[in-house]
Amino acid sequence: MKAVLRRLTRLAMASAGRRARTLGGRIALLYVLLLACVMVATLAVASSGITMFARQAAERELSANARVFDQIIATRQGQMADAGEVVARDFGFREAYATGDAPTLTSAIETLRDRARVSAVVIVHLDGSVIASDGANAIDGAAMLDRLEQGQDRGVVILDGTHALAAAVPIEMPDLAGWLVLVNRLGPEDMKQLARLSAAEVQASILDRSQLAGSLASVGLGEIRTIDGDGGQLLVQISAIASLQNALQPRLVLAHSLDKSLAQYSRLRLILVLISLVGVLAGAWASIRLSRGLARPLQSLAEATRAYGRGTVAKVKAEGVIEIRSLADSFNAMVDAVEEREQQVLHASLHDSLTGLPNRRFFIEELDRAVTRQNERHRNFIAFIDVDDFKAINDTMGHPVGDEILRSLAFTLRDRFPDAMVARFGSDEFGVLLGGLEPAEDCNSIARSLEMVLGRTFASDRNLEISACVGIAVGPQDGASANALMTAAELALSRARSEGKGSCHFFEPDLDAEASRRRRMEVDLRSAVGQGDFELHFQPLFSISENRIKGFEALMRWPHAEQGMISPVQFIPIAEETGLIVQMGEWAIREACRQAAKWPGDASVAVNISPRQLSSEGLVTCVAQALAQSGLPASRLELEITESVFIGDVDKTLKILHSLQALGVRVALDDFGTGYSSLSYLRSFPFDKIKIDQSFVRAMSEGGSANAIVRAITTLADALGMVTLAEGVETPELLEALRLEGCDMIQGYLISRPVPGAEVQSLLALQKPPQRLRAAG
Ligand code: C2E
Ligand code: CA
Ligand code: CA
Repeated sequence: MKAVLRRLTRLAMASAGRRARTLGGRIALLYVLLLACVMVATLAVASSGITMFARQAAERELSANARVFDQIIATRQGQMADAGEVVARDFGFREAYATGDAPTLTSAIETLRDRARVSAVVIVHLDGSVIASDGANAIDGAAMLDRLEQGQDRGVVILDGTHALAAAVPIEMPDLAGWLVLVNRLGPEDMKQLARLSAAEVQASILDRSQLAGSLASVGLGEIRTIDGDGGQLLVQISAIASLQNALQPRLVLAHSLDKSLAQYSRLRLILVLISLVGVLAGAWASIRLSRGLARPLQSLAEATRAYGRGTVAKVKAEGVIEIRSLADSFNAMVDAVEEREQQVLHASLHDSLTGLPNRRFFIEELDRAVTRQNERHRNFIAFIDVDDFKAINDTMGHPVGDEILRSLAFTLRDRFPDAMVARFGSDEFGVLLGGLEPAEDCNSIARSLEMVLGRTFASDRNLEISACVGIAVGPQDGASANALMTAAELALSRARSEGKGSCHFFEPDLDAEASRRRRMEVDLRSAVGQGDFELHFQPLFSISENRIKGFEALMRWPHAEQGMISPVQFIPIAEETGLIVQMGEWAIREACRQAAKWPGDASVAVNISPRQLSSEGLVTCVAQALAQSGLPASRLELEITESVFIGDVDKTLKILHSLQALGVRVALDDFGTGYSSLSYLRSFPFDKIKIDQSFVRAMSEGGSANAIVRAITTLADALGMVTLAEGVETPELLEALRLEGCDMIQGYLISRPVPGAEVQSLLALQKPPQRLRAAG
């Protein structure tokens, strides 16, 4: 049992301790303590007030009682005197007195005693002797004489050993002959009767001064004092009463029990205590409520903060006092602001800042979702779009124009395909996702409208025609996962790119095969570069006016162990993509120089230079070394570059080209007419030769404006002091036409196909007219 109690106490204390540690607990405790203190103080003040009030009331009562007693005594003595006077004046009495008729006198005083209802009637003679009625065995007439002679007629005397009121009336016949004294005993009974006449409960007694003992002795006359009595504290007042007897000092002692008068207020006190108790309890309840009102919102704020820390969006209810409400409001505002910022960050992480379109990541997420729902009845159509020659647009027209085109394209795509997700993947690549296509919807017509949108004129104020390649994949047939569909669209796009500007291509399983073939080729190419598995073939460059071969273009060949001779059309793009072209190109320069140095006469050799080679300073060194090592004069080396070298850092390219020219090497502009604004490049660098692209030459045979264009080129080149060469000339008619348009040189199967190095010498030795040479090809 004790153990249980101990445990309970410990538990209660621990819980109180815990509470006291919380803000709410502390506030409640503080309030309750404060309230209790205030209540105790109020109670103490009220209680002492009550005591004071009760005491003062009792004091007032007591002094009033004293006066009442005096009056009662005076009235009684007056009555006694009146009664006595009647007898003292009575003729018969006087006669009996004069005659000393004792029986008559005795009878008279006894009649008077009964009629006046007093204890005794006494006749005091002038000598102090007395005649007393019955009931007055011991009364000292002599002791009264002094006072009576002085004219005092009222006072207290001792009758049979007790105090008694006395009223004296002179017996005059006519001279004073004695006194008739009426005496009324003041025993305890009489005093009680007297006390009963007063309003308050008072104990009255008459004592002789000599009888006042102890604390009573110190009480002054008329003074009200508190003394300790038998039944608790007493209020006491002592007053003097006139004495009619020598050596008698009677005192009226009035006592009133203070405890009793205070007891009257005990109910009031109880009520006060109860009110205080209720007040403290109410205060405790209110302070607990108040502290909870303060603590609860703070606690929920703390909980919300913790929850927010764990990543749950938690708002708090704005409750409690203004300060806490505003704290809660601030917290909620902070949560909102952080949420908003997170949304912004999320938006930024999923969107492209230039166009505001979703980015690649968002596109893939959306595609992931779409793929989970895809089947033959709900197909997903995805298109990858790549703007043609965008780099050239940026470089030639400036980035603001490029940005404008992208924005305009984004807007048009979104406008035209409101149900689709249009995303921007990278610089000039876009993606379109149309999910949930039903069997009735035709992917071809979607592709056509896409082509139409892309074929429009953008950046209208510049009237700029742009085109784009599109690769399309449709799920589930082209891929069951987002990844597979993305790869399929990518393959379709690269096929479209390879088909030329503005092409659109759907994914076909062949593309996949081609892609893996490409990957395989990449691996093979790496080992071929390592092992130096390449050869150079040479194609004559024929001068129309001189009617002779003036040089050869070195064209790379790759004799593959399994696939036979692989065309550069297949492996050069891969080499460019992988960067292997730099190494391969350097080898081509060295090998071309090495072989050309052995050729008889002044035949030159032209080597193709990839744009990637031109962006490295190493090219100039490589060329200089190749010339030095082979001993080939620089004037016999020609480097063919394409217009695409001007995309990017043009200044750097020009610097390298000038350095090459400074070595004495000639520079030719290859594939002229396929690039962007071709003619402008002619002014940026003093090319030695312009090679007009096969596509133009072929167009000449088809008639149309090609002749005029070729003439414009030759005229301009003439003016700039550049030699012109037409590529891909296969017929004598074309040769004739080119000659007429002012072209200086030709290259093509008409003269010869590219031949192995070993056959160059025999070609040079032949130097026959074109018709004959063709047979050699
Ligand atoms: P290219 O520089 O325009 O070379 C001319 C291409 O036209 C050669 O193709 C040549 O065989 C072909 N050709 C010449 N005459 C005719 C003709 O009458 N009719 C037709 N249909 N074609 C003709 P090839 O050798 O297949 O080379 C293709 C391309 O590969 C070259 O085009 C060149 O851009 C690139 N290439 C070849 N070797 C190298 C090299 O060593 N380095 C670099 N960077 N590129 C090279
Ligand atoms: Ca070439
Ligand atoms: Ca060419």
